[in-house]
Amino acid sequence: MIDNEDDGYSDTHRAFLQAFIAARTLNLATAKSRLALCLSAQDGRQRSPQDIEESLIDIYVSAIKDKIQILDLDIVKTRDEADGSILWVFVNAVSDAATQSATSFDSAYDLPFLRKLLDNMFRENNTNNGELMSVTSTEALHHAKSCGLSMLAAENLLSKLVKGEWLCLSDNGSYSLSPRAAVELRNYLRLTYANDSDDEEDQALRNFIRIKDCGVCKTLVTRGFRCLNNRCTFYVHEHCSTNLSNSKKCPSCNNLWRTSIVGPNATRSGHERSTFDGALEDIQGELD
Ligand SMILES: [Zn+2]
Ligand SMILES: [Zn+2]
Repeated sequence: MIDNEDDGYSDTHRAFLQAFIAARTLNLATAKSRLALCLSAQDGRQRSPQDIEESLIDIYVSAIKDKIQILDLDIVKTRDEADGSILWVFVNAVSDAATQSATSFDSAYDLPFLRKLLDNMFRENNTNNGELMSVTSTEALHHAKSCGLSMLAAENLLSKLVKGEWLCLSDNGSYSLSPRAAVELRNYLRLTYANDSDDEEDQALRNFIRIKDCGVCKTLVTRGFRCLNNRCTFYVHEHCSTNLSNSKKCPSCNNLWRTSIVGPNATRSGHERSTFDGALEDIQGELD
């Protein structure tokens, strides 16, 4: 590699940044192939994706991050909550929605519609009766109508939001946040929805947390598991939960590690358990 500037920031970095700007999200395979191309183009020596280690990608990303932070841009390494695969997402680091609307959306309908979907995901569909944090396509189309969109326009907008990596369409036909949106909107979600329940007493009683952090990696959980003990608020991504399944105990409440699903695959009756189940579990926890 030829570093043609004193600070080591080269055409390879610039070309790799272009790859992020174009794709927004790179998984490990695409990041390897893009960086191999960028390096090969710079000095004419051919590299294949297999020649590129993950640590080399991290080194390039780190240098690029230093350059773009002044523009309130960032590249965040994260994992896909659905399958645990490594991703790098190119995001706007400014959390306020007005700035995001100016930079990310090109229609007056996009942001109000997305806000309604987020309200539905993180309020109505995120309670002790079910922590789905997703919306069905019927719910999404209903919100589109209330934003003054025709059915066709709504369907187009939904597919645009999926294509733009704001939303994911799950196997069961519901829409949830994409990995990019989970990173880009994390501050907005916290400011807007964390602890905004009308019924604070109810929230306190049930230990309900609207915006959930993974007990292992400390990032936002929009799909994964919750400890089945109603008094415990330990959440974890599926890909972060391997050691817990081995240890068989919740690291927070020490009860037997049993879980309910959170995210699009949660059931709407969700986390509620009978008092008998709860009591049984507490006894079991004490015996362990
Ligand atoms: Zn995690
Ligand atoms: Zn627990």
